[in-house]
Amino acid sequence: MKAPSLSVRFPARSPGTASRWPAWLVAGATTALLASACAGAVEEPFRSGLAERDAAQAEGSSDAPAADPDCDDANPRPSLGPPEPLPAPASLPAGSYMAEIQARGVLRAGVGADTLLFGFLNPQSGDVEGFDVEMARLVADAIFGDPDRLELIPVQSAERIDRLQDGTVDIVVKTMTINCERWGSINFSTVYYESGQRLLVGNDTGVVSIDDVGGERAICAISGTTSLARLEAEGVATIEEASWTDCLVAFQQGRAFGISTDDTILAGLAAQDPYAEVVGAPFSEEPYGIGLPKDHPEFTRFVNAVLEQARSDGTWERLYDEWLADVLGKGVAVPNASYRT
Ligand code: GLU
Repeated sequence: MKAPSLSVRFPARSPGTASRWPAWLVAGATTALLASACAGAVEEPFRSGLAERDAAQAEGSSDAPAADPDCDDANPRPSLGPPEPLPAPASLPAGSYMAEIQARGVLRAGVGADTLLFGFLNPQSGDVEGFDVEMARLVADAIFGDPDRLELIPVQSAERIDRLQDGTVDIVVKTMTINCERWGSINFSTVYYESGQRLLVGNDTGVVSIDDVGGERAICAISGTTSLARLEAEGVATIEEASWTDCLVAFQQGRAFGISTDDTILAGLAAQDPYAEVVGAPFSEEPYGIGLPKDHPEFTRFVNAVLEQARSDGTWERLYDEWLADVLGKGVAVPNASYRT
């Protein structure tokens, strides 16, 4: 087995340092938040027939269509069926992308570094933490038997697909909405969180929904996101920034009247600004999936098996309670998985 490579650009969270909603933040920090193997030992874990279909998909991926023809805009969630059972780290199939990652010694995960709750650099611990990071740790654990064999690489929303396609990262776990256009370039896991777009404004504006904004007051969103696309489609005036922290600055400087994106991200921004409040009902569906390379469908199936396990053995609920329940509400149901095959 190759010696472990533990060098990380951002350290993975140390085991046992379960963080909650950080006190330094609740205490009222404003924009402070930061800136931005054993590969030979194998068995035959995949159901017959899947391998041929995977090979065909991988072949077609060099000439990826604009949108995935197998994807339904009304419900883009179905992903590739998982192997049964999930192969153990010592039994990853030879030639699979999982075996390649194992031989390398570390899983490279693209994550956010300024999205409170999901992927954020905790200045107290120096670690990048959050629910998305936990999803990456589950995948690392399934490949290595060790969740810390993880290199966390910060990515902006607009570069999530490029970093997967150029091989800089093996997975992207960054509040990433599953949709058919993206399925044309990358694969997604099954949904691991159901979000929805909302609006953040100053708490003395009288604005209670996106319909009150009109076409003149500028709302901030960031490049390469479903959030920006939806605002533009609805005729809302927009300010485009590179990160949600930049949007918070624009809002606090009065350049933006408000910010609109997923309820999850807005909850984290609102916690950093006592003048901000999140208003109105969600006006979109933003199902989050783990972004995966298109040319390794066996890896998508493997990650889906990892998520199946987390759904069924209580891990998802434990992580939800640890990271999200205090802010996003208790008693949220585990999102259902659905499969194309
Ligand atoms: N869920 C939205 C998307 O995938 C926004 C997420 C983000 O910017 O982190 O485009």
